[in-house]
Order: sequence, then C-alpha cells, then structure tokens
Amino acid sequence: MNIHEHQAKKILKEYGAPVSNGVVILDPSEVAKKIKSLKSKKFVLKAQIHAGGRGKAGGVKIIENFKDLEKESRTMFGKVLVTPQTGPSGKEVKRLYIEEASDILKEFYLSCLVDRSSSKIAFISSTEGGMDIEKVADETPEKIVTTKINLQNEISDVSIEKIIEPFSFSDDQKIDAFKLIKALYKILKEKDATLIEINPLIISKNNQIICLDAKINFDDNALFRHPDIVELRDLNEEDSAEIEASKHDLAYIKLNGSIGCMVNGAGLAMATMDIIKLHGQEPANFLDVGGGASKEKVTEAFKLILLDKNVKGILVNIFGGIMRCDILAQGVVDAAKETNLKVPLVVRLAGTNFKEGKKILDKSGLKILSAENLNDAAKKIVEAVK
Ligand code: ADP
Ligand code: MG
Repeated sequence: MNIHEHQAKKILKEYGAPVSNGVVILDPSEVAKKIKSLKSKKFVLKAQIHAGGRGKAGGVKIIENFKDLEKESRTMFGKVLVTPQTGPSGKEVKRLYIEEASDILKEFYLSCLVDRSSSKIAFISSTEGGMDIEKVADETPEKIVTTKINLQNEISDVSIEKIIEPFSFSDDQKIDAFKLIKALYKILKEKDATLIEINPLIISKNNQIICLDAKINFDDNALFRHPDIVELRDLNEEDSAEIEASKHDLAYIKLNGSIGCMVNGAGLAMATMDIIKLHGQEPANFLDVGGGASKEKVTEAFKLILLDKNVKGILVNIFGGIMRCDILAQGVVDAAKETNLKVPLVVRLAGTNFKEGKKILDKSGLKILSAENLNDAAKKIVEAVK
C-alpha cells in the first residue's frame, strides 16, 4: 500500500526525522484558513498524488508571495498530472500540501528498502538527488552506494558512516544524519514498510539537513497489524477494479491485453499468461481466485474481468485441489448467465471432479468451449478472439 507525501512526512516527524512545516488541503475552500499557520516568506505548493516526477509535470510550485497561495492552490486543484509514474492518462489532483520552502544548497538521494534477494535491509544513498534513481543506476552506477543491514541487528555506526559517506556532511550535520538513518530503519521495521524513499534529502543554505520529499510503501500482508496505516489509504489513488477485487479477496492486476484470465493459484496464473503470449496474444489481467473460491467469488471475478472493455475473450483455467471442479463449473455457468456473457469463453478444468464439472458446462446451453489441457485451452481462446 502507498500513502501520500504529507502522510509519510507525518510519520517521519513522529520518529524525529527533519521535515518542514506544512498543511494539507483537501478542498479549495480550506486554503485561506489553513495557510494562516504557515510562517515562512516562501512556500511550495505540492500536488498530492501517488506518483513521483511531479516536479517536472507542474505538480510542485514555488510561491514567493503569501497572497498568491490561495489563487495558485485553486488552480492546482483538479489539474491532471501526467508523470512517468502515472501512466498516460495521468492523475487528478485532489489534495494539496503547502509547505514552507527551503533554500537548497545540495540535493541527495536516500532510501531504505527490503532487499529480497539478500534477505536484508538495504540503504541506497547517492549524491544524485532529485533525479530518477533508476536512470542514475543505469548511467552512473558508481554514484550509488548500497549498504546492507541484517534485520536482526541494530544498525551499527560503521554502517551509518558508509550510508552517509557520499554526502560529505559536517560534524554537526552528521549528528542529525545518524538520527535520521536510525529513524528510517525503525520506521521500516516497526511499520512493516517495504520502502522509504527520501528524494531529495537536502542541505539547506543554513546547513540544515531536511527530508524534502518522502515516499513510503507498506507490505500489504502485514497491514492487519497496522490499523493506523490502513486508515491512510486513499482509494482515489487506486485502480477501481483492483479496489473491487480486494473487497472480495481476489488477487487482480489489470494488464493491457485482450484475453481475460481466471485462474486459481498464482503459479498457474503466471503459466496461463505465459502460454497465452506463446500463442501470440496478450493477457488482459492477472487474476487469482484462490484455493477455495466460492460460486460468489467466481461471479465477482467474472464481473471484474468484464469491466475491462479491452477483453475480447475469457480463459478459465482451474486445477481442482481444495476446490471441486463441479462447484466451480456451476459458478462459471451462473456467472456467465448473470453477466450476460457475450465474449467467447474457454474453460479448462483438471483435478477433483473434473468430469462432473465438464458435464455441467456441456449441459448449460451456453457457448462454452471446453479444453483438454492448458495448451489446447490457450490455442482455442486465441483462435476464438481472432
Ligand atoms: P517529485 O519527486 O514528485 O518531483 P519532490 O517533492 O521531490 O517531487 O519535488 C521536486 C523538487 O522540488 C525537489 O527536488 C526540490 O528541488 C523542490 N522542492 C520540493 N519541496 C521543496 C521545498 N519544501 N522547498 C524548496 N524546494 C522544494
Ligand atoms: Mg522527489
């Protein structure tokens, strides 16, 4: 799960990390009242969307004058920002953060994340702040320092020295930097975050270190431990089909192809997507209905797939282990009737009660193509959508 910059900064502040003062604006009518609490001479107006790259897209604006704040805020509300992270349709600005502006001397990159391949926590630091870090990694990898920490351990002074080494801090700045690194590590562990990214971390002209941007991602599987984090979820920022899917406990990710897939088990779902590609088409989604999918879940899964207007055909591929194929087949038939299915449907069933399942499909009176095996299924659906 992702949160907004202003929410991430609030968490950073609670853990003692240096962030600027700011106010959140959820509606244009609040601007005049809320900005009264800000004291600096210059301000930064920051669009709150779940995507980086806002600066270049016009979503971060320095305002030199208190008087212009209200006017500029009203202009920013409702703007659609297109950044490399939003996709081509962009994201509409529905909330703003107004922050006291800093005079920047230097911008750095700092992040802390779960490194799955080494089972450690990795800190990434670089002098190339404010930039797209993937680009830095590609073009000038020598400018990136990676420091790995054993999750069981406290973070050692030697490790912290290595993390902040590229920044060439003064002794005073180092004291604050030590606190910051410890705070990031603590947040990552205590809140089950998978990534905390400060880009840029700056030194201001009066020599303060400040987190000027902040992004935190959380491990969805650990959210049950953090009701306070769940409350920060902003459904405006999420794909509506994916929200619907999560309500029904379905693992759904929208993709750009034309063949909708309904599969049980993530491994089988991947194999199904692969074999569709092998036959020359693209999957419209990843959808795992899980081991014990009920009839209701199958119906919801169908509805989800059909919400996507690119879908020209559906491939159902089920292995009946915990799930019985006859129950599933009935679910498919009911769902196809309920949703008034118009696109071709290929069903491949294997495992427990697959013969009974096939009978139900054959007797349904619906135009369902049944398939012998996965290869046959993929071939049939690719043929059918041609
Ligand atoms: P994004 O990463 O989405 O582009 P950032 O928050 O990193 O957004 O802002 C982009 C740039 O705007 C920063 O690299 C920094 O130069 C400038 N900026 C952001 N916040 C402030 C601030 N409070 N004071 C001064 N400059 C800022
Ligand atoms: Mg940034």
